[in-house]
Amino acid sequence: MKPPRKLHIKSYGCQMNVYDAQRMVDTLAGEGFVETANVEDADLVILNTCHIREKASEKVYSELGRLRVVKDEAARRGRLMNVAVAGCVAQAEGQEIIRRAPAVDIVVGPQSYHHLPELLARAKSDGRALETEFPVRDKFEFLPPPRPEAIRARGISSFVTVQEGCDKFCTFCVVPYTRGAEVSRPAVKVVDDVQRLADHGVREITLIGQNVNAYHGEGPDGTAWSLGTLLRRLAEIPGIARLRYSTSHPRDVDTTLIEAHRDLATLMPFVHLPVQSGSDRILSAMNRKHTADDYRRAIDRFRAARQDIAFSSDFIVGFPGESEEDFRATLALVTQIGYAGAYSFKYSPRPGTPAADIREIVSAAEMDERLVRLQELIDSQQSAFNKAMIGKTVDVLFERAARNPGQIVGRTAYLQPAHVLASADIIGQVLPVRIDSLERYSLLGELASLAQSATSQKPASPITVSSAPRMGA
Ligand code: SF4
Repeated sequence: MKPPRKLHIKSYGCQMNVYDAQRMVDTLAGEGFVETANVEDADLVILNTCHIREKASEKVYSELGRLRVVKDEAARRGRLMNVAVAGCVAQAEGQEIIRRAPAVDIVVGPQSYHHLPELLARAKSDGRALETEFPVRDKFEFLPPPRPEAIRARGISSFVTVQEGCDKFCTFCVVPYTRGAEVSRPAVKVVDDVQRLADHGVREITLIGQNVNAYHGEGPDGTAWSLGTLLRRLAEIPGIARLRYSTSHPRDVDTTLIEAHRDLATLMPFVHLPVQSGSDRILSAMNRKHTADDYRRAIDRFRAARQDIAFSSDFIVGFPGESEEDFRATLALVTQIGYAGAYSFKYSPRPGTPAADIREIVSAAEMDERLVRLQELIDSQQSAFNKAMIGKTVDVLFERAARNPGQIVGRTAYLQPAHVLASADIIGQVLPVRIDSLERYSLLGELASLAQSATSQKPASPITVSSAPRMGA
């Protein structure tokens, strides 16, 4: 029997890249590849790249420079190592990567990685292979289902892609160019995927998409299902204790989604809803196609449907033309909404996007100063939100042994890590935990009641949703 070939994947960026990397592993498992954490041992190294961060492509070229040394060393020892670049930088800069990085054998875009086995064969025969077309047929039709042992090894939480691409064309964003037009997977395929994951012990599913609540996949009845309708169907699958979704757009918040939050105990009351700015002038320049008040109204609808719901968001500071008054509108919006957490970044231009051509640049010093002010405000809200957990009993889905001996760590409904002293038997269970203290961002507590836990352990039983603090508007 041939020894397995070794695959090392380094993935950058978003949840979808994490998911895509897992699907690449699943695809290549059929070709006899097993994963290795050690790049020197690898027969194939894949950099699964992200184009969102500043100077993303330069970082990829530096990494490729390091890989060239490793590849040359492998060749000196008589071993062939292939190097592939996947993800959004591959899509955006395919030819340039081939030109600039001689160590690279394969460049594959995010819609084409199901072709990796053929690309490997092509690289072997032709020297190098490039595939960055947006294929006519959906890659999910070709991807093999994850193997049971891979599902179990990945733990009790899993991502499932339901939607890809984006038609919104925000002026700062590369996604419509790197991931293509908005496409939704048929509901039946998503249900099958989630059923398979549940059958092998997965308890929490996060549905992912660049614009996940624009989901409009074909339902079994031939109509287009919304995300809310899909969530309702997935909540019926025995064993699934928690459902989440990310990332949402304020314009695509519809009644079915609000009602899903109202009705489904398994749908977690924590929504990531990026707004980017609180200024209508800047939102318009960003082509967000919603106002700050539209966003406030969307938040109000969620809160009316579910009292314990909390929010996180994304903010860009220093978008071209942002004045102090615009920035204050952002601070006012944050103060009014009250977030459980948020991501905030200084604006940096992405080549090829419309905003990259706007000349009214905000100075680096102003951006730095605004980012500090915004992050202080967000940190204070997050800290207050976490502190308000102390003394409460909240449901925790336990995931794994913690680094501290004897402790098991899980997540609350709001994704806060929560630690208890317990045996590993509780991994995979949702149990009520009395929160005693907070250490930085982690909650510490104890299992509220072993007797109560016994009823919570049955995978198909409904989960009690404990009351949790709501940040006031
Ligand atoms: S909606 Fe999101 S993914 Fe789409 S263009 Fe805007 S920022 Fe990018």
